[in-house]
Amino acid sequence: MSTAFPRPRVLVVAGTRPECLKLASVVQALRAEAALDTQLLNSGQHQDMVARTFGQLGMACDLDPGQISATSLSQALSALRAQVRAAARAQGSRLIVSQGDTSTAYAAALAARDLGLPLAHVEAGLRSGHPYRPFPEELFRRRIAPLAQLHFAPTERAAANLRGEGVADARIHQVGNSVIDLLRAQVEDPDPPALPFLPDTPRHIALTLHRRENYGRGLDQVCAAVLEILARHADIGVVCPVHPNPAVGSRIRRHLAGHARINLVEPLEYRPFIALLARACLAITDSGGIQEEAPYLGTPVLVVRENTERPESVALGAATLVPPRPERIVAETDRLLAAPPPARLPFAPGSAYGDGRSGERIARIIAAFLAADGSSC
Ligand code: UDP
Repeated sequence: MSTAFPRPRVLVVAGTRPECLKLASVVQALRAEAALDTQLLNSGQHQDMVARTFGQLGMACDLDPGQISATSLSQALSALRAQVRAAARAQGSRLIVSQGDTSTAYAAALAARDLGLPLAHVEAGLRSGHPYRPFPEELFRRRIAPLAQLHFAPTERAAANLRGEGVADARIHQVGNSVIDLLRAQVEDPDPPALPFLPDTPRHIALTLHRRENYGRGLDQVCAAVLEILARHADIGVVCPVHPNPAVGSRIRRHLAGHARINLVEPLEYRPFIALLARACLAITDSGGIQEEAPYLGTPVLVVRENTERPESVALGAATLVPPRPERIVAETDRLLAAPPPARLPFAPGSAYGDGRSGERIARIIAAFLAADGSSC
């Protein structure tokens, strides 16, 4: 395992689609750091989705110990923690990188603690303002913070949240959001993907739903609102990539399948999804990442949730937060459809989620941290 001039090994852990999308540029930049030996681990949370999403981006995991089997959140955490710990131990990792607020992110933080390794947390400091909602994401974020040595905050507000919780200033690096790196590359791509799934209507809404907090009644309410919106606007269609979670998919299909102006499709690859979002007159969603991407595309977003950990988009006027109640959703949709679309944020350092160069910054800071760490040994 050790060589005459060992390069410190960095273990990057991903378990779900948004982690892949947000870690892609980080992994690419870490791999470009000659002083580091970077390995990408598929945690086994959504193993197929992770392999597929990285594959679509022309990337592959170095380590793939397999899909975990778990019937509860605590079992999943324990299994993921064991997989990350085993991988880091076997590879002699010197630092673990985790992203966001998933079970994988929290399990990786715990595994780092188990092994006494530093943790770098990408997208640190997001807070909804409620101690445990959305569940479990908010709980995970708050528990990861005390376990991290490097906090990569995407925004000024996220950095302030961390400072407010007592994290030392020197450990907080405001770097922008790495999902904007991928978005920037896509927007600059001169060859846009085909969109065969667009409805035959002048305008379309992009609809995505998947959060645990909307399971059941929340989904019923949003679907009822979507049907009412279509009844009021004959020129509008809907494209909805249906989340693979059966608790979500079966309910959405029950309400929306069969409508002439609604296309329910499989989860889309990133590039066609972004092209769909860019051309939509509105996004209705409970997703986190879409709240960050849509402002750079000039697409207004209706966020159907009780709260958001991305208040920056609301403050900009690019997103509207609405509880999942049909009359509110329909009223806000009417208002947004009548208003001019928000101005597109530029890919510039002053923009809410940064300039699309976060991955490079994160890699440089990790390399410097490990160089200093090594010299002090
Ligand atoms: N996305 C995608 N294909 C889809 C729907 C979404 O690639 O069919 C992307 C989207 O651009 C965003 C991310 O997936 O970057 C959001 O993932 P999700 O909503 O599942 O998770 P969250 O952001 O809420 O954690």
